[in-house]
Amino acid sequence: MPTPQGAVTVSIRAASLNHLDVWLVSGAQRVEPPRVLAADGAGVVAESGDSSWRPGDEVVIYPVACCWRCEQCRAGRQVFCPQFGILGEHTDGTACEFFQVPAQNLYRRPEGLTWDEAAAFPLTFLTAWRMIVTRARLQPGETMLVVGAGAGVAAAAIAIGRQLGARVLATSRSQAKRERVLELGAEAAFDSSGFSKPVREASQGGVDVVFEHVGPATLDESIRSIRKGGRIVFCGSTSGVRAEVNMPRLFFGQADLLGSTMGNAGEFEQVLEAIGRGLRPIVDSTFALDEATSALERLERAEQFGKVVLRP
Ligand SMILES: [Zn+2]
Repeated sequence: MPTPQGAVTVSIRAASLNHLDVWLVSGAQRVEPPRVLAADGAGVVAESGDSSWRPGDEVVIYPVACCWRCEQCRAGRQVFCPQFGILGEHTDGTACEFFQVPAQNLYRRPEGLTWDEAAAFPLTFLTAWRMIVTRARLQPGETMLVVGAGAGVAAAAIAIGRQLGARVLATSRSQAKRERVLELGAEAAFDSSGFSKPVREASQGGVDVVFEHVGPATLDESIRSIRKGGRIVFCGSTSGVRAEVNMPRLFFGQADLLGSTMGNAGEFEQVLEAIGRGLRPIVDSTFALDEATSALERLERAEQFGKVVLRP
């Protein structure tokens, strides 16, 4: 397919899956088939319709679909674009050999990252970065609890929290994953059931920030885990869409509930700078593109720790 003006064709070297892809395949998240999966990708420019990129340039892809022309996009608030979406969900994705994308979606591949790592960080690190830095404004020395720490976005949160100089606590249902998060720099990891009591003890009365993506199954315990004036920031609700909230705990606790999805291009640039300072994604496993079904099964069974990568 010829490359249109303003677009770039990237020869994909690695793509990575997110839990979103499992929902797309299962039909839990409805899209009109056929659809190429995956939001995350890195590769080499094959053909360019824009003067800012040349064939041979090594790039990573900002995983947001947006118009790049509206007032919000031009002001750097891509998450508020009326056409905001995620690559692989609202458009075809990166799990392919050649991927065409607007030139503005491309950034130079960070030095020091393998192709697998370059494809592993975009969606989860962008999402976690906006949640922690922009929305919850986590400060050095503060304590953050990361709930459901086995998920890709949660592993990113632990790495970002540690780099920002925060204390990080975590929860997971899996003993093996609780051990892994300690290796990532979490100070302590608790079982997912009834975690607020040990969390309050470990944080001398409650954490400053809870990083949430689980929702109804953990929200009450998350609210019990914050100190007065604490913040709960969430990007998802994997355990269901409706939750019951104990209102007095929120208002007597002066609590902030903060929603967040993906991130702006400027936040993606901040992630790239943090990678320059040593921030690294975790690659769980690598599959050939034609083994994508096995890769998705690994995600569906929640066996992974870190990102599942596909190689064309
Ligand atoms: Zn726009």
